[in-house]
Amino acid sequence: MIFYGTNGSHVRTAPLPGVACPNCSTMDSVNASVFSRYAHIYWIPLFPYSKPIVAQCEHCQQAWEEKVMPAEVREPAKALKQDTRSPLLHWAGLGVIAVLICVGALMGARNDREDKAFLENPRVGDIYTVRTKEDDKTYSLLKVVAVKGPTVDVVPNEYTINQRNALDELNDPAKYSKESFTLSQFELKTMQNKGQLTDVDRLEK
Ligand SMILES: [Zn+2]
Repeated sequence: MIFYGTNGSHVRTAPLPGVACPNCSTMDSVNASVFSRYAHIYWIPLFPYSKPIVAQCEHCQQAWEEKVMPAEVREPAKALKQDTRSPLLHWAGLGVIAVLICVGALMGARNDREDKAFLENPRVGDIYTVRTKEDDKTYSLLKVVAVKGPTVDVVPNEYTINQRNALDELNDPAKYSKESFTLSQFELKTMQNKGQLTDVDRLEK
């Protein structure tokens, strides 16, 4: 269950100078208040979406929402609203999401660079996460057991898993085949470009 909804808070109240109360005719007695409404998820503000305004006469206590404000009150009240920003805090959720997306993109780019470097300079013990069939959601592992110039000998893991994190689940020495086969750098590069080889990990650095 995800809790989400809307909430609001008072931002600012200011007098509307030069305005006579439409109800009691007192001069300079009307104040306008600006509120900020925001969407929240688990009570963390995500983003503001409206700024309701209310005006009230201090003398006769008559109050008006924006829809029913007499024109002489509405015009200066709307000017005050336009001059009032929603609190930055009401953007907190979107701000956090934007930061997480940036961090994710940076980490992804770093991982891609690392994968490329590991593929170009393979070492015994490197583990490749591979899709077992093209366009399939089944993953398994290949472990490098020998590096011979432009080729590597790998042993395939004998298990598959329907998740990308095959490494966490399958990397147990007992789960690898004893039969190795040879792959060239070119073949590995091609597999990577086709998305068949999705990750390269070097556990002992
Ligand atoms: Zn009044």
